[in-house]
Amino acid sequence: MSAPDAKQDDSLRSWGLLPRPAPQIPVTIRSRHAPLPRSPDKSALPRGMGRSYGDVCLNGDGLLLMTDRLDRWISFDPVTGILQCESGVSLDAILRLAVPLGWFPAVTPGTRFVSVGGAIANDVHGKNHHRAGTFGAHVRGFELLRSDGARQWCSRGSHADRFRATIGGLGLTGLITRAELQLQPIHNPMMDTEDIRMDGLASFFDLADESDAHWDYTVAWIDGLATGNQLGRGIFMRGNHAGPEVAASEKKLRKPIEVPLHAPDVALNRQSIRLLNFLQHQKLRGDRQQKQTHFAPFFYPLDGVGGWNKLYGRRGFYQYQFVVPRDGPHSPVREILRTLSESDESVFLAVLKCFGDAPPEGLLSFPRPGVTLALDFPNRGESTRKLMHELDEIVFSNGGALYPAKDARMSPEHFRQSFPALDLFQAHIDPAFSSDFARRVEAIPVKATP
Ligand SMILES: Cc1cc2nc3c(=O)[nH]c(=O)nc-3n(C[C@H](O)[C@H](O)[C@H](O)COP(=O)(O)OP(=O)(O)OC[C@H]3O[C@@H](n4cnc5c(N)ncnc54)[C@H](O)[C@@H]3O)c2cc1C
Repeated sequence: MSAPDAKQDDSLRSWGLLPRPAPQIPVTIRSRHAPLPRSPDKSALPRGMGRSYGDVCLNGDGLLLMTDRLDRWISFDPVTGILQCESGVSLDAILRLAVPLGWFPAVTPGTRFVSVGGAIANDVHGKNHHRAGTFGAHVRGFELLRSDGARQWCSRGSHADRFRATIGGLGLTGLITRAELQLQPIHNPMMDTEDIRMDGLASFFDLADESDAHWDYTVAWIDGLATGNQLGRGIFMRGNHAGPEVAASEKKLRKPIEVPLHAPDVALNRQSIRLLNFLQHQKLRGDRQQKQTHFAPFFYPLDGVGGWNKLYGRRGFYQYQFVVPRDGPHSPVREILRTLSESDESVFLAVLKCFGDAPPEGLLSFPRPGVTLALDFPNRGESTRKLMHELDEIVFSNGGALYPAKDARMSPEHFRQSFPALDLFQAHIDPAFSSDFARRVEAIPVKATP
């Protein structure tokens, strides 16, 4: 293969704009029937829409198999909601196709700008994990193209081990060319929602328990800078797809407004974040607010502003997402929030959610029973890393795990602790595939590197 020159291209970075990879060689896959591009001395990694925060979608000094042209529909049955499409199709495209026909992705992350291949490879979760499990639970099968030219249709009934390794497999088991998904039926694009003010962590757990049976989607926004008896204050948000009696809004999915430039590094400091948190808390009138809303602002509040990651400035930002076993109101989450409140670092976004008990779909799936918190930190260098190191101690001494899709810094030891099935997974890694993440956390046994 004659590969184009390696590129130090900003569009080939990851969402956190943090690790700047060594130059990468993008190779566009134009047809799902084409053979896999190979290079004798370079590893390959599939690339979706680059919405992972850390380095699972980076492959410095290697090939990036760009899937944006694998964007074709293959079949859709509007009676059963079974959709087959190429792996570069985005959730945004699926929503545009399926919602008018009364169908919706069974699981969606907090952005619709992810590809089907990326959603499978990180086995992403949404606000309905307690009801529906992860994205992988609704994948009926996919075709995997390996570097030896083999094409395998993987499903629960065929190549089942490889199916489990590829769901959450971080792009290391081969290229997913097409996939078959089960969508869920809806009556219209509207959501019944309720926002409830929480004065602390105990109210979060009470509300999560109370909502489990009747609300499909639950999540909480937490004020990560609150201190003392306000620790864990925030807003609990829950929603269900609206019933047939609700009039559908005419609202169309809009293209995001783009942030043109990186913000100055001082834009998101502790003072401005404290003010934004205060305003967010005050936005809710009274203690409880019910409303009907279109699905877009409910699921994708950040998608209205394209490139919002640039607001963190040129130094980028870390997202630190962990899961820990839930331990009532004395959970490790309290210890984490206390550590945050005592630190000088700024937490811009803090999102808390209880995972359900669904067994993991993939060998390396992140969600497991417990509570997960996602924290965004502007990168201030050593002091930010020191804080995350302190958080690691709390997470891992409580038997927790970190989420690879968000990670730019976990150690090989913490990766191994987070994913006890790593040894089983390694047998499925394609020897021609690798990534910056895989090398950093030593996911690939040394002899398997090309
Ligand atoms: C605003 C925002 C909100 C988010 N909210 C959530 C959330 O609520 N829950 C959650 O779980 N995640 C969330 N994420 C993370 C995001 O959903 C995942 O990182 C997702 O995997 C990104 O998909 P992508 O298409 O951009 O893939 P990329 O980031 O490009 O790649 C992700 C991984 O998938 C692999 N891959 C991509 N395509 C293929 C393919 N065809 N075959 C094999 N492997 C492939 C890549 O090699 C890489 O390892 C969020 C991200 C953002 C920016």
